[in-house]
Amino acid sequence: MTATTVPATAPIRVDLGLYPEVQKFGAADISACFSCGTCSATCPMSQTDGTFPRRIIRFAQLGMKEQLLSSKELWACYQCGECAETCPTKADPSEFMAATRRYAIASYDRTRLARTMYTRPAVASVLAVLIALFFAAFMYTAHGPMPGEELAIFTFIPEGLIHTMGIVVMVVVLLAGLAGVATMARDIGRKEGVSVRGALGSRRGLARTGRALWTAVGRESLGQVRFREECEADAVAMAVPWYRRRWLVHALVVWGFVGLLAATGLDYGLALIGVKETGTPVPLWYPVRLLGTLAGASLVYGASVLIIDRYRKANRSVTGSTTADWLLLALLWVTAVTGFTIELALYLPSAPVWGYWLFLVHVAVAMELVLLAPFMKLAHAVYRPVALFFVALAAEPKEASR
Ligand code: SF4
Ligand code: SF4
Repeated sequence: MTATTVPATAPIRVDLGLYPEVQKFGAADISACFSCGTCSATCPMSQTDGTFPRRIIRFAQLGMKEQLLSSKELWACYQCGECAETCPTKADPSEFMAATRRYAIASYDRTRLARTMYTRPAVASVLAVLIALFFAAFMYTAHGPMPGEELAIFTFIPEGLIHTMGIVVMVVVLLAGLAGVATMARDIGRKEGVSVRGALGSRRGLARTGRALWTAVGRESLGQVRFREECEADAVAMAVPWYRRRWLVHALVVWGFVGLLAATGLDYGLALIGVKETGTPVPLWYPVRLLGTLAGASLVYGASVLIIDRYRKANRSVTGSTTADWLLLALLWVTAVTGFTIELALYLPSAPVWGYWLFLVHVAVAMELVLLAPFMKLAHAVYRPVALFFVALAAEPKEASR
């Protein structure tokens, strides 16, 4: 790898190893791209910026690493695959964008674990099994009896141990995740000329920031508005049933995951303030339980459809799959299905022994899923809203200069 400087208004560092590096993350061969712009004309997300995704491809071809990593537009792509269909040279810009996001996640991660997860599939798979086994074995060493009258899961695995492990995992995730997000936000902020003072230092700045946050988190991430409105025209044209639409399946996974995290947190909070001990049987309509049940069903359905669609290559967005894609789906699916099955088993007239073992598997895999979140595709759940915040901020009317 060599570094040199090309003449420009401001010095631009050129990394000639960038393109081969991005290719290690699964990028299709985009050397055939001659920047014709057809993909930009096709892309439903490119309405306000006629150079997207073509510009990202050029950054990689020219070795402009800093420009690539500080591109907020990289995360505006929903991998609908329309650009891949229309590209005259079959350069597959859609897959290239996905690979570049993997590369970005690995670049923001200082531990290099994300890089291993993406570029060394065999090591990643072994690591995933070992982490799950570690969590399961660790909890099993402290296990109690398996009462037969009713499924007393916290008698088998003490809830205090699960809470302590959960807190340790969350601390690791927050430290690793926040470091990556801070790096990304700093890089994009510098490129966009957004400073903390400008964003928060005046009433107008605060109002713009608030609106951009709402757009990025409320409308785009939780509401999936652009995904639904702009990436689904094809689905309507091809008469894909509403319950198989990409935006809905993706949204169900998002809502399910967020709902389960919220239900777990609320359950813990209720125990802390003495309202309800964790694990106390409550009727289905009890708000926290109802939230957990609906979120679990949502995640089971969403993850199952994602797996089936990816296996069948059911749409343009899943024509190419990496081990990391499968690993994430497997962790999501096992977490969701084991959790939902335990939820049902809790109300059986007598406690099935398999319920206890399933609980052990559920907690081990759920811990692993959260622990690996900053190092896998799941990290996009945070990186994308941050980038979309800058996209929304750029679309806000500028403050009048005085
Ligand atoms: S990726 Fe294909 S469509 Fe897009 S600019 Fe390059 S050659 Fe044209
Ligand atoms: S995959 Fe879809 S959203 Fe992404 S760049 Fe291509 S056309 Fe645009």
